[in-house]
Amino acid sequence: MRVGIGTDVHRLEKGVPMWVAGLHFPDEPAGLSGHSDGDVVAHAACDALFGAAGLGDMGSNYGTSEPEWAGASGAAFLTETARRVRAAGYEIGNVNVQLIGNRPRFAARREEAQAIMSDALGAAVTLSATTTDGLGLTGRGEGVAAVAVALLH
Ligand code: MG
Repeated sequence: MRVGIGTDVHRLEKGVPMWVAGLHFPDEPAGLSGHSDGDVVAHAACDALFGAAGLGDMGSNYGTSEPEWAGASGAAFLTETARRVRAAGYEIGNVNVQLIGNRPRFAARREEAQAIMSDALGAAVTLSATTTDGLGLTGRGEGVAAVAVALLH
């Protein structure tokens, strides 16, 4: 058994579509900026998986110099990360991710997001969300963060 941890943060930007945990939130006034779609939940999950497998991280696997990953969806990263982890000889036990931020309003779509991420990984993904009492970069609405753990066997 091997565990891994992953974290990610992306900046909130007005007029950018909000994609989190493989879901589009069309009513959000701001979204997450980045080289890809900024899906912090998917990215943290991928880093946890790579870390557990000893395969580096998002940056070393999907460099910004690789144009095929520009604008890639969170689900696409999850599917390819699962493939690389399995190719290294591991099976995925489960992944748990906590979203940290004021936006998007996540609770109503939590189960939908779990289903999409579980489907993309081919393994159980559970999700939760929290806020920081108005403190820090997430509390001020400057960005959204996520922390993930993954178990491989
Ligand atoms: Mg990221």
